[in-house]
Amino acid sequence: MLILLGPPGAGKGTQARMLEEDFGLVQLSTGDLLRAAVAAGTEAGRKAKAVMESGQLVSDEIVLAVLKDRMAEPDVSRGVILDGFPRTAGQAAALDALLAAAGEGVTAAVSLEVDDEAMVGRVSGRYTCAGCGEGYHDSFKMPAVPGTCDKCGGTAFKRRADDNAETVRERLRAYHSQTAPLIAHYDRQGVLHRVDAMGAIAEIRAALGEIVGRVAA
Ligand SMILES: [Zn+2]
Repeated sequence: MLILLGPPGAGKGTQARMLEEDFGLVQLSTGDLLRAAVAAGTEAGRKAKAVMESGQLVSDEIVLAVLKDRMAEPDVSRGVILDGFPRTAGQAAALDALLAAAGEGVTAAVSLEVDDEAMVGRVSGRYTCAGCGEGYHDSFKMPAVPGTCDKCGGTAFKRRADDNAETVRERLRAYHSQTAPLIAHYDRQGVLHRVDAMGAIAEIRAALGEIVGRVAA
């Protein structure tokens, strides 16, 4: 099992899709797992449904039960990338126990490392064409004719309110404080890999491929 860690904007989703393509891994996100279990009406799914309908957070126990069921299905035999879980060292330990009982384990935890200030610049300069949705950036991708969309000729653009510098900094701070114990957990187990996520997508893909090629996910 591969754990992929990285802050918003580090390209985690893109890289996970590439790992699926390159290695036949299957990305499992907690949200998708729970929705599928609820829809399938499994025992764990019924428990999850009751908790969600009461407006409460689904317990680690239920998430792990859903994950255990999912990992018994044949399409994940080549390995999984877990997304959104574990989020705490306690969850990581519970996951270890679940995997150990099945004779498995976390084979690699990859931390996509970013330069925080560079990330603030990258994310906070983004904007899109209001007409066609084409993405632009104040520093990296400006329209050829200022103020006019390259694709559709539109002149109205929009920015997401949560893409401003202070919000991005706050997200990064929260990410670091949340994941520090997880990173320490996997470091102690000797399965932690740090990958520079500021480079080109192809370089990150190659670095990840090198790691996953060495360990069976
Ligand atoms: Zn446009």
